[in-house]
Amino acid sequence: MSEVCKFCGALYWKNEVNSSEKYTKCCHDVKVRLLNLTEVPDLFKELLCSNSQEAKNYRQHIREYNAALAFVSMGVEIKAPPGTGPYCFHIHGQIYHMVSPLDSS
Ligand SMILES: [Zn+2]
Repeated sequence: MSEVCKFCGALYWKNEVNSSEKYTKCCHDVKVRLLNLTEVPDLFKELLCSNSQEAKNYRQHIREYNAALAFVSMGVEIKAPPGTGPYCFHIHGQIYHMVSPLDSS
């Protein structure tokens, strides 16, 4: 990534240049301005950086926590492609979203 947007400093690969010889996917020549990111809450800093048992558990199961708190999940009929090769998420049929209680007990 050796190319730099002259407006916002975003980095690009050389082949990402458009037909006008510009790199515009970031800020569209300053037409788009993003707010600075806010500081990460202390709880998440602790969970992402600490070596406590609770933090290690959180990082080990971070995908499950994310899915549990997503409130909506995607339902599909997953059909594994034949043969071998790289991982491929192949959906057969209709995609639907499910909203269900967090606690099913
Ligand atoms: Zn830019």
